Amino acid sequence: MFINDTKKNNKLKNNILALGAEAAKLKAEDNEVINATSGMLKNEDGSLFEFASVKKAANNLSTKDKYAYVDSGGTPTYNKAAVSWVFGKYLEEIEKECYYAAIPTPGGSGALHLAFSNYLDDGETVLLPDHMWENYLNMAKEAYIKTDTYRLFNEEDAFDIASLINKVNNLKEKQNKIMILINDPCENPTGFCMQEDDYDKLINIARDNPNNNFIYLMDVAYFDFYNADPNIIRSRYAKFKDMPNNAFALFVFSGSKSFGLYGLRIGALIGLSKNKEEIETFKAANSYSCRATWSACSTLGMSIIEHLVLNEEYRENYEEEVKQASKMLEARSLAFMESAKEVGLKVLPYERGFFICIPSDNPEKLMNALHEDKIHAIATKTCLRLALCSVNKNEASRMPRLIKNRIDLLK
Ligand code: PLP
Repeated sequence: MFINDTKKNNKLKNNILALGAEAAKLKAEDNEVINATSGMLKNEDGSLFEFASVKKAANNLSTKDKYAYVDSGGTPTYNKAAVSWVFGKYLEEIEKECYYAAIPTPGGSGALHLAFSNYLDDGETVLLPDHMWENYLNMAKEAYIKTDTYRLFNEEDAFDIASLINKVNNLKEKQNKIMILINDPCENPTGFCMQEDDYDKLINIARDNPNNNFIYLMDVAYFDFYNADPNIIRSRYAKFKDMPNNAFALFVFSGSKSFGLYGLRIGALIGLSKNKEEIETFKAANSYSCRATWSACSTLGMSIIEHLVLNEEYRENYEEEVKQASKMLEARSLAFMESAKEVGLKVLPYERGFFICIPSDNPEKLMNALHEDKIHAIATKTCLRLALCSVNKNEASRMPRLIKNRIDLLK
C-alpha cells in the first residue's frame, strides 16, 4: 500500500452524497420511492429548485466573469457581497465596532476546513452539538483536531446553555482557546433554532471567562430559510459586534444552501474581531491556505453571488423567491407534523429548515428497515434524518405512518 499511515484507514461512513445518489436512482425507476436523503431543495415535482433571480444573474455574466482565475483571497466585490449578504443592514453598525474580512471558499465546507485547520492546533478540541451534521467529524479529523459535544437542547427543548458551559469548563482544563461550533438557525439535522437571548448567553461565555480565548464558529448555512423577515436572524449575528476582546467570530457562509448553487462549490469564511491585526492575519493566513490547497474558488460561483447580491433588482427578487421556497418547506413540515401527531410519532424539536429528525436507539437499523417501505433517509449517530427539502408535501404527510409502523415492528 502506498497510501500513508495516517490516511490509509479513512473511509466515509454513511456518506450522504453516495446514499443520495443511490436513492435518486431508485426513485427514477419507481416513483413510490421517497428520497429523503440529501440536503438539496427540490420542487414539489421532484426537480431541483432553481431561483429565477440566480439564473438571471448567471445568464448575464461575461466570459471573464465565468472562467478567469481569481485571487486565492477573493475579490473586493465578492468579499463585500458575502459579508453584506450575511450581515445585511446591520453591517453598518458592525463596521463601527469591529474589523472584518471574508475569504471565498469552496462551499461552507471549505470555510469549515479553514476554521478547523487554521484556528486550533493539532490535537486541540472543538465543541460540536450532539445532534450534528456529521461531516464535521470527518473535517475535524482531516484537520488533525479532536471533537467533543455539548447537548444542543434540554428537556424543555430549549438551547442547552448549561451543557455548553459545562463542556467549556472541562475543556478549559486542557486548552486555553475554546472553539464552539454553532449551527443556527435551521440546524442540520434537527431543524432546531436558537432564541434571541441564547445569543446573549453564548457571547457571555467569553465575558465570564476573561482568561480564555473563544472562537465562535457560526455555521449559518441555512439562515436564509429561517424567517420571512430576513433581519431577525441578522440582528442576532450582529450581537457579535459587542463581543469582548477575548472572542473572535467566524461565520461560515454557504452558497449551496443560500442560492441553490450546490455543485458550484462556493461559500465564504468571514472573520469578525475587535482587533485589526487579527483580521489582517485572517486574510493573509487563510489566503495562503486557499492557495496551498484548492488554489482559488469557482469564479462562476463568485460572480453569480456578487452580481445577485450587489444588484438591487436581482437581490430583491431573490428575497421574494426565498420566502416562497420557505413557504413550500413550511407546508411540508406542517403536513409531516400533523400526521406525526396523528400516529404518535416522536420528532426532535423542529422549528424550521431542510431536515426533521426521528429519535432512535438504532438509527442505522431503522434507516435500513425503512427501505422496505421505500423510504430513504439518513441515519446519524443520534437519530434518523429526513430531508424535507427533497420530498413533496404528499410524501411528507405519508412518511410518519410508515415510520411509526416500522418502529413498532422493530420493537
Ligand atoms: N453546514 C451544514 C450544516 C451543512 O448541512 C452543509 C451541507 O450540507 C454545509 C455546512 C456545507 O455545505 P456546502 O459546502 O455545500 O456549502
